[in-house]
Amino acid sequence: MPPVVVIAGRPNVGKSTLFNRLAGRRSAIVADTPGVTRDRKDAEAMLRGRLCRLVDTAGLEESAPETLAGRMRASSAAAVAGADLILFVIDARAGITPADRHFADWLRRQGRPLLLIANKAEGRATESALYDAYALGLGDPLAVSAEHGEGIADLMREIAEHL
Ligand code: GDP
Ligand code: MG
Repeated sequence: MPPVVVIAGRPNVGKSTLFNRLAGRRSAIVADTPGVTRDRKDAEAMLRGRLCRLVDTAGLEESAPETLAGRMRASSAAAVAGADLILFVIDARAGITPADRHFADWLRRQGRPLLLIANKAEGRATESALYDAYALGLGDPLAVSAEHGEGIADLMREIAEHL
C-alpha cells in the first residue's frame, strides 16, 4: 500500500482543486458553493518519483447539528487517522478563520506528519495571512496557487521528502 496523503481543511479553501492539481486530472468536484464535495475522493499519484494515495476529504453534512469546526472534524477524522501525511489547507486570501484555528488545534493533537498549505496565494498580497498562518503552530506555511499551478513543484518535493 502506498503512503496516504490526506488533504484537509475547511470548505472552499481549494482542497479539491489541489487534489486535481496533484493527481494530474480533474477527478474531484470543484465548485463555488462551499461544501459541495459530498464524498471522499482518492487517487494514486506519482509525486517526484514517490507513489502515494491522495485523499480529498469530504465536505459538510448539511443536516449535521454541530459547529463548522465540529463537522470538519467529523468528516475528516477517519481519513486523518489513516494518514501518513496531512496537507492542511488554508485560504491565503480569506485569511485564518476561527474554524481554521479550531481545526488546527485538533489536527495538532492527532500527532500526524503535516504540511501547512496556504492556497490562493497567487498575485495579490497575502503576507498577513501567511504571518497569521505561522501562529497556528503547524510549521511554516507553503504558499501555493492550486488553480494557477504556482508553488506546486515545491510542494510536490516537500510531500515526497515526507513520505
Ligand atoms: P474545497 O471546498 O476546499 O474542496 O475547495 P474547491 O477546490 O472546491 O475550491 C473552492 C473555490 O476556490 C473554487 O471556486 C476554486 O476555483 C477556488 N480556488 C481553488 N484554488 C484556488 C487558487 O489557487 N486561487 C484562487 N484564486 N481560487 C482558487
Ligand atoms: Mg472539495
